[in-house]
Amino acid sequence: RVTEHFERANGQTLISFEVLPPLKGGSMQAIFDTLDPLMEFDPPFIDVTYHREEYVYKKRPSGYYEKTAIRKRPGTVGICAAIMHRYGVDAVPHLLCGGFTKQDTENALIDLAFLDVQNVLALRGDARKFEGRFVPEKEGHHYACELVGQIVDMNNGHYLDELIKDEHASKTNFCIGVAGYPEKHFEAANLEHDLRYVKAKVEAGADYIVTQMFFDNQKYFDYVDACRKVGINVPIVPGLKPVTKLYQLNSLPRMFHIDLPDDLVTAMTKAKDAEARVQVGIEWCTAQSKELKARGVPCLHYYTMGDSSTIRAIAEQVA
Ligand code: FAD
Repeated sequence: RVTEHFERANGQTLISFEVLPPLKGGSMQAIFDTLDPLMEFDPPFIDVTYHREEYVYKKRPSGYYEKTAIRKRPGTVGICAAIMHRYGVDAVPHLLCGGFTKQDTENALIDLAFLDVQNVLALRGDARKFEGRFVPEKEGHHYACELVGQIVDMNNGHYLDELIKDEHASKTNFCIGVAGYPEKHFEAANLEHDLRYVKAKVEAGADYIVTQMFFDNQKYFDYVDACRKVGINVPIVPGLKPVTKLYQLNSLPRMFHIDLPDDLVTAMTKAKDAEARVQVGIEWCTAQSKELKARGVPCLHYYTMGDSSTIRAIAEQVA
């Protein structure tokens, strides 16, 4: 369980990673190629993201367009099993409300428990393209706190199906992570409202929080202070991602609703070539990591996005 790793580390800062399943048709080797060079940093756990189906419009011979739902990056559960088998470290699959009925969730949790996966990051998920707002399944959860509640119910041996008598049901033992947003979730009216709902996730049974990426440590420190003030006392793991390419100066704020500090943007735009830009990103993220470690964060959690060489260059200076 992730929180047991934190406890065992006894104040030392751990290093962990997040990987994305390859695009459909890709091979598991892509994940191993990303992780092999990072295993020397002893990650106690590795997260695997979940990608729900998206709608695409396909032109039929008749000339009509047909709406089809396609999952571009399937395989989260299989990748978790392969990671645990190859490296002997814990895998943390991300589990969404979006696209799942409560029954689907229950079945997914049973699969995970049978594979001895004992950790999950419980998330709501985003709206799909062509949908203005998040739409849950008819029998699904609206918010991550409800999903946390279902996982806790299973940990207590309570299944949805009334045919399963609770006293005979095997109890799962999931450690539950949830998301937090130092720059607030983009749909929340303000940080106070957002924190109210983060607190609801913890009160529902979440064991720890992983943050959205941020590039100004002060935002993380302020967020942790704000969480503690409202009584959120679980570990808060900083999520980190190096900026390495010019287009990310636009795409990261757009996709993740975060700000990039002016000094970082200036350094990136002034860098003379692609190699120099990667260096800027490494230096920035290394400085962030060193400061976070000095302040005693439980873990530095790196979003690899398939780029192990940059993450490795950072971890080498921090470990
Ligand atoms: P929630 O905690 O449910 O919050 C969603 C919004 O609703 C917030 O604005 C919150 O303030 C508000 N809210 C919450 N509860 C209530 C309530 N009871 N009443 C009213 N408002 C409420 N997405 C993926 O698709 N796959 C992934 O693998 C993935 N991994 C992620 C990993 C991390 C570390 C992070 C930070 C995000 C990840 N995401 C992923 C993105 C995430 O799914 C989106 O940010 C999503 O929009 C919100 O998810 P959440 O779990 O934070 O939602």
